[in-house]
Amino acid sequence: MLSERARALKPSPTLAISAKEKVLRAQGLDIAGFGAGEPDFDTPQHIKQAAIDAINKGFTKYTPVAGIEPLKDAIIEKFKNDNGLTFKREEVIISCGGKHGLYNLFQALFQEGDEVIIPTPYWVSYPPMVELAGAKPVIVDTREEDDYQVTGDLLKKYITNKTKGIILNYPSNPVGSVYTVENLTQIGKLAVEHNLYIISDEMYEKLVYDGYKHTSIASIDKAFKERTIISNGVSKAYSMTGWRIGYTVGQKEIISAMSNIQSQSTSNPTSISQYAALAALTGPQDFIAMMVNEFQKRRDYLVAELTSIPGVTCYNPRGAFYVFPNFSALMGKKYKDKVIETSAALTELLLEEFHTAVVPGAEFGKEGYLRLSFATSMEVIKKGVERIKKAAAALI
Ligand code: PLP
Repeated sequence: MLSERARALKPSPTLAISAKEKVLRAQGLDIAGFGAGEPDFDTPQHIKQAAIDAINKGFTKYTPVAGIEPLKDAIIEKFKNDNGLTFKREEVIISCGGKHGLYNLFQALFQEGDEVIIPTPYWVSYPPMVELAGAKPVIVDTREEDDYQVTGDLLKKYITNKTKGIILNYPSNPVGSVYTVENLTQIGKLAVEHNLYIISDEMYEKLVYDGYKHTSIASIDKAFKERTIISNGVSKAYSMTGWRIGYTVGQKEIISAMSNIQSQSTSNPTSISQYAALAALTGPQDFIAMMVNEFQKRRDYLVAELTSIPGVTCYNPRGAFYVFPNFSALMGKKYKDKVIETSAALTELLLEEFHTAVVPGAEFGKEGYLRLSFATSMEVIKKGVERIKKAAAALI
């Protein structure tokens, strides 16, 4: 008999949809895929070369559990230059992707009886990862009118004496929303007042549009920094999702606890990938600007096309590479004889009848919405949009 923990756990829905998409493709179907959570660009050549050099130099053995010192130093430099934040080596840990860092962090911080506040729409992995640590996710619904931000007033309603932390993700997956400094300040003050940890997932920090400049909550006030743990990584910014390198910075005691957990599970992240990540952080950065420029064009096209569908609205993302259109007005309509009542049913219809892969909003805590990634070519985007328009027109 499997453990209760394993039985209660669903596989990642985004990875499940990618898998289904691949199966249909293997059957010869031409699927327009909006499911991908990864840039469609190749990893830059100088980063690949650094990995090849690492192999040739024999950097193919165990490294310190929390990562090699040159990479820690490059991460420290990154925080100094990009965020005006200072960290010491013992306040940095490198893990097998941002996801692994967050998993270890939750294991280090949360336990039975704790409540962790997660604003909607949330990244799919937060609630299960909080639950795996034995704690209870407390979902706080945010609204499009508030740019999908938690305000201090809203947050206050959910804080109890069991609240241990709040998870912030900006720019966010799935909606691409960011936080104003004013809202971050309100949240930071409440965290200080109620002794909460702030988990700040800044994975999409570099993928921002219209000249937006990212501000980390930890950089606003020294008291905020003391209780903030920042998660970031090279996966999205450098198109390195397969290399599995993420990093976490925060208080020494927390990082050390994460390192202990890591030492008893995965040990160090791959030595070769660490050298590649070092080249990513210290090498030329022009790749990011090129990618952002391309993503912005795709975003503009997608938002314009989706909002031209009668009844559909779509928040204009400020960052990341997803749009999160609201299809609620189409819920309850019929395709042939089938009533489409949920985002999951609409996703199934789009995939099976219109060969277009999207992710249901319900997986992110928002029924009636769909998530579409624009980390795919303009050609696929155009084809997919036409199919979605056809599907919407067929719903009566
Ligand atoms: N955080 C957010 C919001 C994400 O969307 C992702 C990936 O989809 C991650 C963290 C984890 O990234 P990775 O584990 O690939 O480094």
